[in-house]
Amino acid sequence: MEAKKGIAILGSTGSIGTQALEVIEAYPDIFDLQVITAHSNADLLIAQAIKHKPNTVVIGDESLYEKVKQALWDYDITVYTGEQSLSQVVEFNEVHTVLTALVGYAGLKPTLAAINAKKSIALANKETLVCAGELVTKLARENGVNIYPVDSEHSAIFQCLVGEFHNKIEKIYLTASGGPFRGWSTEQLQTVTLAQALKHPNWAMGAKITIDSATMMNKGLEVIEAKWLFSLKAEQIDVIVHPQSIVHSLVQFEDGSMKAQMGLPDMKLPIQFALTYPARLKTDFPRFNFMDYPQLTFEKADKETFKNLDLAYKAMDMEGTAACILNAANEVAVDAFLKEKISFLDIARINEETLFNCKCISKPKYEDFVESDREAREYAASLVSVLNLNESK
Ligand code: NAD
Ligand code: MG
Repeated sequence: MEAKKGIAILGSTGSIGTQALEVIEAYPDIFDLQVITAHSNADLLIAQAIKHKPNTVVIGDESLYEKVKQALWDYDITVYTGEQSLSQVVEFNEVHTVLTALVGYAGLKPTLAAINAKKSIALANKETLVCAGELVTKLARENGVNIYPVDSEHSAIFQCLVGEFHNKIEKIYLTASGGPFRGWSTEQLQTVTLAQALKHPNWAMGAKITIDSATMMNKGLEVIEAKWLFSLKAEQIDVIVHPQSIVHSLVQFEDGSMKAQMGLPDMKLPIQFALTYPARLKTDFPRFNFMDYPQLTFEKADKETFKNLDLAYKAMDMEGTAACILNAANEVAVDAFLKEKISFLDIARINEETLFNCKCISKPKYEDFVESDREAREYAASLVSVLNLNESK
């Protein structure tokens, strides 16, 4: 019998992380859960550790270390804390694949450490590729490491490419649901509430990506993610709005043939495929029924109203650390919107101003990404303060 695959899940308490645990639990002969980590949800992390019995857990927030350690005292589980622990636990010998299911720029460092340690990467954390795609993909090539996409659109493209790796891609179409505000005008968007923005029509996800979906930043981040994953130029990547979220994305080859990957929206499928590629394991996930979807529709993305999508293309054009700057601004702006400090439309305003006012460093090294991220966060935070003052007047 083949050895079981040791898995580390960074961000096990999130939307992707909890679904990944369901996938792993369903195949005890295939997967061996080694590491789970969370930032601050100690209670869920403890419950997951007791149920799924990994060898190691990491609680990011150091003030919660004693609590987690005490709770797991009677189990054979080692507990670590602190940001730097993430980069250490991914290097353990027993770990074969690292699922990056944590949110934001915080994913970059441990992903680089995992690649350096020659671990396979199942990548949900798109911000890592958005910020430093060139660095990450170069390091992966040098180390002979594969990066398997978990994001549903990128998994769709990847699934379409199986058996086609020597055939050139002419272009790809990333599908977008359009989010809760599809078809809305800028005027209508002015009064959007947090509760409205948190209601995604087709997917239940973490708060940050749900807001990104409502502002279309998520699709912008995904365009940049696709550029690096599939070595494409910006002009080879198009976005098409498909409100039913059944066609998960499409590839067009040089002979004009198009392949699409379809299915009900369920992240467990791309998570599982990223962990089991090239095999497809039998599941009992609900199946698609054509009669439930008599019409699949497609429409143009509205880049004028949803400026973030356009900003992502601009950041790709600017190269260097531009996408890292845009991502940092967006993380700050979304956090402020979630805390109800700024309005929905302020998110794109902050992103735009930060992108064009912070120094874009060309031919960046790791330290340059760190510097651009820091500078952009500071700049975006100053914009949040000003907007927050104006709005509370
Ligand atoms: P989430 O907010 O539900 O979960 C985030 C996880 O990361 C939690 O376990 C949290 O403890 C951990 N975390 C948060 N901040 C951290 C930090 N600073 N350091 C270390 N750990 C931290 O997020 P999610 O929706 O599961 O998304 C995770 C990633 O997957 C994101 O990059 C997102 O864009 C991507 N993604 C998610 C979905 C989805 O359906 N949820 C789909 C495609 C891609
Ligand atoms: Mg996606």
